[in-house]
Amino acid sequence: MKILVIGGAGYVGSHAVRHLVGAGHDVLVYDNFCYGHRAAVRDVPVVEGDILDQPLLERTLRDHGSEAVMHFAAFTYVGESVSDPARYYRNNIVGTLSILDAMRATGVDRIVFSSTCATYGEPGVVPITESEPQTPINPYGFTKLAIERALDDYAHAYGIRFAALRYFNASGADEAGDIGEDHDPETHLVPIALQVALGQRDHLSIFGNDYPTPDGTCIRDYIHVTDLAEAHLAALLHLEREPVLKLNLGTGVGVSVKEIVEACRRVTGHELPVVEAARRAGDPPELVADPSAAERILGWRARYLDIEATIASAWHWHSGHPDGFAKD
Ligand code: UDP
Repeated sequence: MKILVIGGAGYVGSHAVRHLVGAGHDVLVYDNFCYGHRAAVRDVPVVEGDILDQPLLERTLRDHGSEAVMHFAAFTYVGESVSDPARYYRNNIVGTLSILDAMRATGVDRIVFSSTCATYGEPGVVPITESEPQTPINPYGFTKLAIERALDDYAHAYGIRFAALRYFNASGADEAGDIGEDHDPETHLVPIALQVALGQRDHLSIFGNDYPTPDGTCIRDYIHVTDLAEAHLAALLHLEREPVLKLNLGTGVGVSVKEIVEACRRVTGHELPVVEAARRAGDPPELVADPSAAERILGWRARYLDIEATIASAWHWHSGHPDGFAKD
Protein backbone atom coordinates (compact mmCIF):
# COMPACT_ATOMS: atom_id res chain seq x y z
CA MET A 1 0.00 0.00 0.00
CA LYS A 2 1.11 3.59 -0.58
CA ILE A 3 1.20 5.16 2.87
CA LEU A 4 2.01 8.76 3.80
CA VAL A 5 3.56 8.70 7.28
CA ILE A 6 3.16 12.15 8.75
CA GLY A 7 5.58 12.73 11.62
CA GLY A 8 7.49 9.68 10.40
CA ALA A 9 10.85 11.05 11.60
CA GLY A 10 9.79 11.06 15.26
CA TYR A 11 10.14 8.35 17.87
CA VAL A 12 7.06 6.20 17.27
CA GLY A 13 6.74 7.31 13.64
CA SER A 14 10.24 6.17 12.66
CA HIS A 15 9.62 2.73 14.16
CA ALA A 16 6.34 2.49 12.25
CA VAL A 17 8.17 3.48 9.04
CA ARG A 18 10.71 0.71 9.58
CA HIS A 19 7.96 -1.85 10.10
CA LEU A 20 5.93 -0.69 7.08
CA VAL A 21 8.96 -0.72 4.79
CA GLY A 22 9.91 -4.17 6.10
CA ALA A 23 6.40 -5.40 5.27
CA GLY A 24 6.84 -4.18 1.68
CA HIS A 25 4.74 -1.02 1.69
CA ASP A 26 5.52 2.12 -0.31
CA VAL A 27 6.21 4.70 2.40
CA LEU A 28 6.64 8.45 2.05
CA VAL A 29 7.52 10.43 5.17
CA TYR A 30 6.15 13.95 5.73
CA ASP A 31 7.79 15.79 8.63
CA ASN A 32 8.68 19.37 9.52
CA PHE A 33 11.74 18.20 11.53
CA CYS A 34 10.67 20.35 14.44
CA TYR A 35 11.18 17.31 16.71
CA GLY A 36 11.89 14.61 14.12
CA HIS A 37 15.37 13.53 13.02
CA ARG A 38 16.63 13.18 9.46
CA ALA A 39 18.95 10.40 10.56
CA ALA A 40 15.91 8.38 11.67
CA VAL A 41 14.60 8.15 8.10
CA ARG A 42 17.76 8.02 5.98
CA ASP A 43 16.58 5.21 3.71
CA VAL A 44 13.08 6.51 3.01
CA PRO A 45 11.81 9.30 0.73
CA VAL A 46 10.91 12.40 2.71
CA VAL A 47 8.92 15.57 2.09
CA GLU A 48 9.75 18.39 4.48
CA GLY A 49 6.54 20.17 5.37
CA ASP A 50 4.24 21.28 8.12
CA ILE A 51 0.82 19.80 8.82
CA LEU A 52 -0.64 23.31 8.81
CA ASP A 53 0.34 23.60 5.13
CA GLN A 54 -2.77 22.00 3.62
CA PRO A 55 -1.88 22.79 -0.03
CA LEU A 56 1.47 21.00 0.37
CA LEU A 57 -0.26 18.06 2.04
CA GLU A 58 -2.67 17.83 -0.88
CA ARG A 59 0.13 17.98 -3.46
CA THR A 60 2.08 15.35 -1.54
CA LEU A 61 -0.88 12.96 -1.26
CA ARG A 62 -1.61 13.38 -5.00
CA ASP A 63 1.98 13.09 -6.22
CA HIS A 64 2.62 10.01 -4.09
CA GLY A 65 -0.74 8.44 -4.92
CA SER A 66 -1.20 7.79 -1.20
CA GLU A 67 -3.92 5.33 -0.27
CA ALA A 68 -3.67 5.84 3.48
CA VAL A 69 -2.20 8.16 6.11
CA MET A 70 -0.55 7.42 9.42
CA HIS A 71 -0.38 10.55 11.57
CA PHE A 72 2.26 10.84 14.30
CA ALA A 73 2.96 14.58 14.08
CA ALA A 74 1.84 15.83 17.47
CA PHE A 75 3.24 17.91 20.29
CA THR A 76 3.28 15.66 23.34
CA TYR A 77 4.66 17.53 26.36
CA VAL A 78 1.89 17.53 28.95
CA GLY A 79 3.46 20.31 31.05
CA GLU A 80 4.00 22.55 28.04
CA SER A 81 0.41 21.95 26.95
CA VAL A 82 -0.64 23.53 30.25
CA SER A 83 1.73 26.51 30.03
CA ASP A 84 1.30 27.12 26.28
CA PRO A 85 -2.00 25.54 25.19
CA ALA A 86 -2.22 27.66 22.04
CA ARG A 87 0.71 25.74 20.58
CA TYR A 88 -1.08 22.44 21.24
CA TYR A 89 -4.48 23.52 19.99
CA ARG A 90 -2.93 24.86 16.77
CA ASN A 91 -0.68 21.93 15.95
CA ASN A 92 -2.62 18.99 17.34
CA ILE A 93 -6.15 20.13 16.46
CA VAL A 94 -5.88 22.65 13.62
CA GLY A 95 -2.97 20.75 12.04
CA THR A 96 -4.84 17.43 12.17
CA LEU A 97 -7.96 19.02 10.67
CA SER A 98 -5.75 20.25 7.85
CA ILE A 99 -4.62 16.65 7.26
CA LEU A 100 -8.21 15.39 7.28
CA ASP A 101 -9.31 18.10 4.86
CA ALA A 102 -6.35 17.37 2.58
CA MET A 103 -7.45 13.73 2.61
CA ARG A 104 -11.01 14.73 1.68
CA ALA A 105 -9.73 16.93 -1.13
CA THR A 106 -7.64 14.11 -2.59
CA GLY A 107 -9.97 11.18 -1.92
CA VAL A 108 -7.70 9.44 0.59
CA ASP A 109 -10.08 7.77 3.02
CA ARG A 110 -7.98 5.87 5.58
CA ILE A 111 -6.05 7.21 8.54
CA VAL A 112 -4.37 5.73 11.59
CA PHE A 113 -4.24 8.38 14.30
CA SER A 114 -2.01 8.41 17.39
CA SER A 115 -4.27 8.95 20.35
CA THR A 116 -3.30 8.47 23.96
CA CYS A 117 -4.27 7.05 27.34
CA ALA A 118 -4.13 10.70 28.47
CA THR A 119 -7.65 11.02 26.99
CA TYR A 120 -8.89 8.98 29.98
CA GLY A 121 -7.63 11.50 32.56
CA GLU A 122 -7.86 9.85 35.98
CA PRO A 123 -9.66 6.59 35.20
CA GLY A 124 -12.19 5.19 37.62
CA VAL A 125 -11.30 1.59 36.79
CA VAL A 126 -7.89 0.05 36.06
CA PRO A 127 -7.03 -1.85 33.83
CA ILE A 128 -8.61 0.63 31.45
CA THR A 129 -10.98 -0.57 28.74
CA GLU A 130 -11.96 1.46 25.70
CA SER A 131 -15.37 2.16 27.26
CA GLU A 132 -13.84 4.04 30.21
CA PRO A 133 -15.12 7.66 30.10
CA GLN A 134 -12.67 10.01 28.38
CA THR A 135 -12.17 13.01 30.65
CA PRO A 136 -8.67 14.37 30.00
CA ILE A 137 -7.07 16.50 32.70
CA ASN A 138 -4.66 18.50 30.54
CA PRO A 139 -4.77 20.31 27.18
CA TYR A 140 -2.60 17.65 25.50
CA GLY A 141 -5.13 14.92 26.31
CA PHE A 142 -7.97 17.19 25.29
CA THR A 143 -6.44 17.90 21.86
CA LYS A 144 -6.26 14.16 21.19
CA LEU A 145 -9.82 13.61 22.37
CA ALA A 146 -11.03 16.49 20.20
CA ILE A 147 -9.56 14.76 17.15
CA GLU A 148 -11.14 11.44 18.12
CA ARG A 149 -14.49 13.30 18.11
CA ALA A 150 -13.70 14.98 14.77
CA LEU A 151 -12.80 11.59 13.31
CA ASP A 152 -16.18 10.20 14.40
CA ASP A 153 -17.92 13.09 12.65
CA TYR A 154 -15.72 12.88 9.52
CA ALA A 155 -16.37 9.14 9.35
CA HIS A 156 -20.09 9.69 9.57
CA ALA A 157 -20.31 12.62 7.17
CA TYR A 158 -17.49 12.01 4.68
CA GLY A 159 -16.81 8.29 4.84
CA ILE A 160 -13.32 8.59 6.37
CA ARG A 161 -12.19 5.24 7.81
CA PHE A 162 -10.04 5.64 10.91
CA ALA A 163 -8.22 3.91 13.71
CA ALA A 164 -7.58 5.94 16.88
CA LEU A 165 -4.88 4.10 18.79
CA ARG A 166 -4.63 5.08 22.44
CA TYR A 167 -1.03 4.42 23.40
CA PHE A 168 0.10 3.87 26.93
CA ASN A 169 3.82 4.61 27.66
CA ALA A 170 5.82 4.10 24.47
CA SER A 171 9.26 2.74 25.39
CA GLY A 172 12.24 0.81 24.08
CA ALA A 173 13.92 0.91 20.69
CA ASP A 174 14.31 -1.17 17.56
CA GLU A 175 16.54 -4.18 18.28
CA ALA A 176 18.97 -3.05 15.57
CA GLY A 177 19.99 -0.24 17.94
CA ASP A 178 20.18 2.45 15.24
CA ILE A 179 16.91 4.27 15.94
CA GLY A 180 15.40 5.15 19.29
CA GLU A 181 14.10 7.87 21.57
CA ASP A 182 15.76 11.30 21.24
CA HIS A 183 13.67 14.13 22.68
CA ASP A 184 14.89 17.60 23.51
CA PRO A 185 14.03 18.28 26.24
CA GLU A 186 13.71 14.73 27.54
CA THR A 187 11.01 14.29 30.17
CA HIS A 188 10.27 10.56 30.06
CA LEU A 189 11.23 8.20 32.82
CA VAL A 190 13.12 5.45 30.98
CA PRO A 191 15.41 7.67 28.84
CA ILE A 192 16.12 9.92 31.83
CA ALA A 193 17.05 6.89 33.95
CA LEU A 194 19.35 5.67 31.16
CA GLN A 195 20.94 9.13 30.88
CA VAL A 196 21.73 8.87 34.60
CA ALA A 197 23.27 5.46 33.93
CA LEU A 198 25.39 7.06 31.19
CA GLY A 199 26.58 9.73 33.63
CA GLN A 200 24.82 12.49 31.68
CA ARG A 201 22.70 13.39 34.71
CA ASP A 202 23.58 13.21 38.43
CA HIS A 203 20.40 11.53 39.53
CA LEU A 204 16.83 10.63 38.71
CA SER A 205 14.03 12.41 40.58
CA ILE A 206 11.19 10.12 41.60
CA PHE A 207 8.09 12.28 41.37
CA GLY A 208 6.05 11.29 44.41
CA ASN A 209 6.39 8.36 46.83
CA ASP A 210 3.02 8.68 48.55
CA TYR A 211 0.65 7.47 45.85
CA PRO A 212 -1.90 4.80 46.75
CA THR A 213 0.17 2.06 45.08
CA PRO A 214 2.12 -0.82 46.69
CA ASP A 215 5.47 1.04 46.72
CA GLY A 216 4.00 4.57 46.71
CA THR A 217 5.18 5.45 43.18
CA CYS A 218 3.10 5.80 40.02
CA ILE A 219 2.29 2.75 37.94
CA ARG A 220 2.35 2.86 34.15
CA ASP A 221 2.06 0.42 31.25
CA TYR A 222 5.28 0.52 29.18
CA ILE A 223 4.55 -0.65 25.64
CA HIS A 224 7.47 -1.37 23.33
CA VAL A 225 7.64 0.93 20.31
CA THR A 226 8.12 -2.05 17.95
CA ASP A 227 4.91 -3.57 19.30
CA LEU A 228 3.21 -0.24 18.64
CA ALA A 229 4.55 -0.22 15.08
CA GLU A 230 3.09 -3.68 14.43
CA ALA A 231 -0.27 -2.63 15.84
CA HIS A 232 -0.40 0.35 13.45
CA LEU A 233 -0.10 -1.83 10.39
CA ALA A 234 -2.60 -4.36 11.75
CA ALA A 235 -5.04 -1.51 12.43
CA LEU A 236 -4.60 -0.04 8.96
CA LEU A 237 -5.24 -3.42 7.33
CA HIS A 238 -8.28 -3.90 9.55
CA LEU A 239 -9.85 -0.71 8.17
CA GLU A 240 -10.62 -2.73 5.03
CA ARG A 241 -13.13 -4.66 7.11
CA GLU A 242 -14.37 -2.10 9.63
CA PRO A 243 -14.45 1.69 9.19
CA VAL A 244 -13.96 2.80 12.81
CA LEU A 245 -11.52 1.42 15.32
CA LYS A 246 -10.66 2.82 18.76
CA LEU A 247 -8.20 0.70 20.67
CA ASN A 248 -5.92 0.79 23.68
CA LEU A 249 -2.36 -0.26 22.93
CA GLY A 250 -0.64 -1.48 26.05
CA THR A 251 0.82 -4.59 27.62
CA GLY A 252 -1.69 -4.93 30.44
CA VAL A 253 1.29 -5.06 32.84
CA GLY A 254 1.69 -2.26 35.38
CA VAL A 255 5.21 -1.22 36.44
CA SER A 256 5.98 1.34 39.17
CA VAL A 257 8.61 4.08 38.95
CA LYS A 258 10.71 2.27 41.56
CA GLU A 259 10.44 -0.97 39.58
CA ILE A 260 11.67 0.88 36.48
CA VAL A 261 14.65 2.19 38.44
CA GLU A 262 15.49 -1.33 39.69
CA ALA A 263 15.14 -2.76 36.18
CA CYS A 264 17.41 -0.02 34.77
CA ARG A 265 20.00 -0.82 37.44
CA ARG A 266 19.94 -4.51 36.52
CA VAL A 267 20.07 -3.89 32.76
CA THR A 268 22.83 -1.27 32.82
CA GLY A 269 24.84 -2.48 35.80
CA HIS A 270 25.01 1.13 37.02
CA GLU A 271 24.09 2.35 40.45
CA LEU A 272 21.64 5.05 39.30
CA PRO A 273 21.29 7.55 42.16
CA VAL A 274 17.71 8.68 42.85
CA VAL A 275 16.19 11.57 44.77
CA GLU A 276 12.67 11.36 46.11
CA ALA A 277 10.92 14.50 44.89
CA ALA A 278 7.46 16.03 45.00
CA ARG A 279 4.63 14.73 42.85
CA ARG A 280 4.46 16.06 39.30
CA ALA A 281 1.20 17.89 38.65
CA GLY A 282 -1.32 15.95 36.61
CA ASP A 283 0.13 12.44 37.15
CA PRO A 284 -2.61 9.87 37.82
CA PRO A 285 -1.48 7.10 40.25
CA GLU A 286 -2.08 4.21 37.87
CA LEU A 287 -2.56 3.88 34.10
CA VAL A 288 -2.62 0.32 32.79
CA ALA A 289 -4.35 -0.86 29.64
CA ASP A 290 -6.79 -3.66 29.25
CA PRO A 291 -5.34 -4.77 25.90
CA SER A 292 -7.90 -7.50 25.24
CA ALA A 293 -9.90 -5.59 22.60
CA ALA A 294 -6.79 -5.10 20.43
CA GLU A 295 -6.08 -8.82 20.69
CA ARG A 296 -9.67 -9.80 19.91
CA ILE A 297 -10.09 -7.39 17.00
CA LEU A 298 -6.60 -7.20 15.47
CA GLY A 299 -5.10 -10.44 16.68
CA TRP A 300 -2.33 -8.21 18.08
CA ARG A 301 -0.77 -8.45 21.47
CA ALA A 302 2.41 -6.96 22.88
CA ARG A 303 5.40 -9.25 22.53
CA TYR A 304 7.53 -7.34 25.01
CA LEU A 305 5.92 -8.17 28.35
CA ASP A 306 9.15 -8.20 30.37
CA ILE A 307 10.15 -4.64 31.27
CA GLU A 308 13.84 -5.63 31.37
CA ALA A 309 13.72 -6.66 27.70
CA THR A 310 12.13 -3.32 26.79
CA ILE A 311 14.71 -1.39 28.80
CA ALA A 312 17.54 -3.49 27.35
CA SER A 313 16.50 -2.47 23.83
CA ALA A 314 16.42 1.19 24.90
CA TRP A 315 19.83 0.79 26.54
CA HIS A 316 21.25 -0.66 23.31
CA TRP A 317 20.20 2.55 21.52
CA HIS A 318 21.16 5.03 24.26
CA SER A 319 24.53 3.48 25.07
CA GLY A 320 25.39 3.30 21.36
CA HIS A 321 24.16 6.87 20.72
CA PRO A 322 24.73 8.81 23.95
CA ASP A 323 24.07 12.09 22.12
CA GLY A 324 21.08 10.77 20.18
CA PHE A 325 20.84 11.08 16.41
CA ALA A 326 23.52 12.81 14.39
CA LYS A 327 22.33 16.38 13.80
CA ASP A 328 22.18 17.69 10.24
N1 UDP B 1 8.75 10.17 36.38
C1 UDP B 1 9.62 10.34 37.44
N2 UDP B 1 10.79 11.00 37.20
C2 UDP B 1 11.12 11.51 35.98
C3 UDP B 1 10.23 11.34 34.91
C4 UDP B 1 9.04 10.66 35.15
O1 UDP B 1 9.35 9.89 38.56
O2 UDP B 1 12.19 12.13 35.85
C5 UDP B 1 7.49 9.44 36.61
C6 UDP B 1 6.24 10.24 36.27
O3 UDP B 1 5.83 11.00 37.38
C7 UDP B 1 5.26 9.13 35.90
C8 UDP B 1 6.16 8.04 35.30
O4 UDP B 1 7.48 8.34 35.74
O5 UDP B 1 4.66 8.62 37.07
C9 UDP B 1 6.14 8.01 33.79
O6 UDP B 1 6.38 9.34 33.32
P1 UDP B 1 6.71 9.67 31.82
O7 UDP B 1 6.96 11.15 31.74
O8 UDP B 1 7.78 8.78 31.32
O9 UDP B 1 5.38 9.28 31.04
P2 UDP B 1 3.86 9.74 31.26
O10 UDP B 1 3.23 8.65 32.08
O11 UDP B 1 3.85 11.07 31.93
O12 UDP B 1 3.31 9.77 29.88
